[in-house]
Amino acid sequence: MSEYDVIVIGGGPAGYPAAIRAAQNKLTVACIDAWQNRDGSYAFGGTCLNAGCIPSKALLESSELYHRAQHEFAAHGIKVGNIELDLAAMQKRRATIVKSMTVGIGGLLKAAGAVGLQGHGKLLSGNRVEFTGKDGKKEELKAKQVILAAGSSPTELKSLPFDGKNVVDSWGALEFDAVPKRLGVIGAGVIGLELGSVWRRLGAEVVVLEALDSFLPMADGAISKEALKHYKKLGLDIRLGAKVSGAQPGASGVTLKYTDAKGEQSVEVDKVVVAIGRRPYSQNLLGDDTGVQLDERGFVKVDHDCRTDAPNVWAVGDLVRGPMLAHKGKEEGVMVADLIAGKVAEVNYKVIPSVIYTAPEIAWVGQTEEEVKRSGRAYKIGSFPFSASGRARAMEASAGFCKIVAAVDDDEILGVHIIGPMAGELIAEAVLAMEYAASSEDLQRTIHAHPTLSEALHEAALAADKIAIDFPNR
Ligand code: FAD
Ligand code: NAD
Repeated sequence: MSEYDVIVIGGGPAGYPAAIRAAQNKLTVACIDAWQNRDGSYAFGGTCLNAGCIPSKALLESSELYHRAQHEFAAHGIKVGNIELDLAAMQKRRATIVKSMTVGIGGLLKAAGAVGLQGHGKLLSGNRVEFTGKDGKKEELKAKQVILAAGSSPTELKSLPFDGKNVVDSWGALEFDAVPKRLGVIGAGVIGLELGSVWRRLGAEVVVLEALDSFLPMADGAISKEALKHYKKLGLDIRLGAKVSGAQPGASGVTLKYTDAKGEQSVEVDKVVVAIGRRPYSQNLLGDDTGVQLDERGFVKVDHDCRTDAPNVWAVGDLVRGPMLAHKGKEEGVMVADLIAGKVAEVNYKVIPSVIYTAPEIAWVGQTEEEVKRSGRAYKIGSFPFSASGRARAMEASAGFCKIVAAVDDDEILGVHIIGPMAGELIAEAVLAMEYAASSEDLQRTIHAHPTLSEALHEAALAADKIAIDFPNR
């Protein structure tokens, strides 16, 4: 029986960093991963690299370029004539990026000294792990510590089960080989908006059915309001308060039935993407008597430091509470590997950034204005529009704004909310500032290069005290 200091089950963005850090900490470690592509081949990197973050960003980038070439190049004085879509080439680029990144993970594990095992892992009692290899052969492994990082899977709608053809999950929607004429998207969450944007830009008529009456309720109110305006301008037909009650597959597509404030409605589409959230994936992960407990929603129960109820068994990433984000999983994986090695480590759950990679891009960290208001703490806000940013104007990307929410008593930055160009990059400054408990004055006194988009955040901090330079203070 092979014995390791650490066995990680799951090689996604939570699992593989845990294995690499454990190896960096001079522990012997194996990382078991079961991800299989449609052709049966194995690949490290989990949902994120194979069917999530990376392929979606590849298509978002390509489709945005296509859209900009059609609608914005003329403003720059560039005439391009007839622009044609070569979807096969676009999809090939996506697949090539995914392939090279996932092969790269195998290389990173090896270089760090971690053993990468492709196949299925199952935790047994007494910190034993049953490993089933690609050839179906079973082997029992043992570890002093086990880290569970099995991730999540898409939630299915009972009335509209996935059929892999006309009713697909996000993975299926990343791999369409033709632009659907009419695309239905169930759920106006992050996946619905990102993939809805991709296919809309490539020419599909996109209807988004969202059960809630409010749009992007997790974002700051001013951001969701601004975002909705831009998504509508793009042509996303977002229908709020639309509860899907059934679906009728036909020869060429699907008729979606839903109820909203006006009563029973229906819409015909060619393809449907169901993007109503994801569930923790613990299928066949736990043997009998492991002591690991699940909560009522199926997440592995953990404490603040990702310890499960079983001694020396930890769990990280989408499998446990908290936002389902790759960077959250990565930090948990690294933290656990450090704690196992006896180091001091912690994840600061208060400053996990969120990004929606649409155009305009949306990013935030910390509390929304609404949350701060509800907390009762006196606050001030500063906003700065990208239309007043020289760099954004030069980029022909002046939609949106930066908004900062700070405490009145000690000036602590409580939240930063950005909608506009490169918001996902700009938010890093706010994350760092909040990680170090910076005040809005600290941001005000920090020099920002001119002309850059980051000046918008600087000016928003100044605006919080009504001392903005490049925009009238209100
Ligand atoms: P996963 O990435 O799901 O990895 C788990 C791995 O464990 C998988 O390879 C799985 O096969 C394997 N596994 C499961 N059970 C076993 C077992 N018993 N034995 C062996 N292996 C097993 N997040 C972001 O932060 N930014 C984004 O831009 C972003 N975009 C996304 C776009 C889409 C379309 C989707 C679907 C998700 C996106 N996410 C994004 C979310 C992100 O993908 C997840 O939060 C992240 O992948 C979770 O990492 P994980 O390691 O916990 O799980
Ligand atoms: P989500 O939770 O972001 O959104 C799901 C949406 O579907 C919600 O608005 C919900 O109200 C709605 N909904 C639920 N049931 C419905 C129903 N029956 N009919 C109509 N609407 C319904 O989930 P998602 O978009 O599927 O994404 C899953 C996870 O992946 C998220 O946790 C997200 O954080 C992660 N993700 C992140 C990124 C990113 O960081 N950019 C990108 C994609 C996915």
